[in-house]
Amino acid sequence: MIPFFDLGAVTRPHRAAIDRAIAGVLDESRVILGPRTAAFEADFARYCGVRHAIGVGNGLDALTLILRAYGLGAGDEVIMPANTFIATVLAVTAIGCTPVLADPDPETMLLDPTVVESLVTTRTRAIIAVHLYGRLCDMDALGDIARRHGLRLIEDAAQAHGARCGERRAGALGDAAGFSFYPTKNLGCLGDGGAVTTDDDALADRIRMLRNYGSVEKNVHTVLGVNSRLDELQSAVLAVRLPHLDGENDRRRALASRYDELLRGTALILPDLGDDDHVFHLYVVRSEERDRLRAALEAAGIGTAIHYPTPPHRQPAYRELSKVHLPVADLLAGEVLSLPLHPALTDAEVERIAEVLRALA
Ligand SMILES: *Cc1c(COP(=O)(O)O)cnc(C)c1O
Repeated sequence: MIPFFDLGAVTRPHRAAIDRAIAGVLDESRVILGPRTAAFEADFARYCGVRHAIGVGNGLDALTLILRAYGLGAGDEVIMPANTFIATVLAVTAIGCTPVLADPDPETMLLDPTVVESLVTTRTRAIIAVHLYGRLCDMDALGDIARRHGLRLIEDAAQAHGARCGERRAGALGDAAGFSFYPTKNLGCLGDGGAVTTDDDALADRIRMLRNYGSVEKNVHTVLGVNSRLDELQSAVLAVRLPHLDGENDRRRALASRYDELLRGTALILPDLGDDDHVFHLYVVRSEERDRLRAALEAAGIGTAIHYPTPPHRQPAYRELSKVHLPVADLLAGEVLSLPLHPALTDAEVERIAEVLRALA
């Protein structure tokens, strides 16, 4: 059996340090907004190369809080890719903004700056660039569009912890970024967690307030806030894992390049390997026969996943978006297949998966 993801195997090398960190939190008896969260926020800000990281409850809240802190609301339009996890869209509709879905580039499966530009109206306030599957969007081109039209450029970096563009990393490539630390992400905790990163001091202050009932000073509530905090236990786990992130991303890239060698010459469409700008949160191949391949892999004891089988505009919750013409997003949803890829996956497992696929595709 090769499972699609294996949390036990991924955390095993860090197990002793995680156990100690958890015991340390219990010893200190501080579990919310204590020293571990403050320390992890400082570490993660330094790692991303920004002035501020603010720990929040999850990736969805990270994005929602950014939009809310910028004061966006009803009547404001936010452009984002149509082929994303539903959380990107939920963040926008949660505060009453209108999501404007961009059909992705069929090659990179990322936001196409030309399409983005064509969707800008007088009501557009922001662009959310989703670094899907761990690959960075063209942030120079998107930054240029944002500057020319006076828009906020927000990164959805939930799949791209550590991805690098020259000396700069995901989280430092726009005005603000939302991260998720959901356990399967490149940097994951043992439950829900997230963070906002930014160089904007005022935005950081506002998000610190919003995440904690609109308060920085006890019993003084300056704005209408929410409760969305990264807790001490999750922060302690993340502090253990952060120093290993670059090494684990290197391992992900090595496995992706092994898949690439072994699957070349099949009928599968393989992802571009990229450079340090791709941290392979997911290794996603494409095939018109995706469902047959998936069933055959399953029968051979190999777990796979689909990110995502039903795009947001085809979900019952977003019936109002279903009339938008998004042929590339619809095509991709029928063809994408995520193969196992995590830092504890072995070369032998990749070879086994490729062998099964080569006999099929
Ligand atoms: C995981 C993910 C999110 C949401 O993160 P949660 O912590 O699960 O709320 C948002 N956007 C993308 C692209 C994701 O992959």
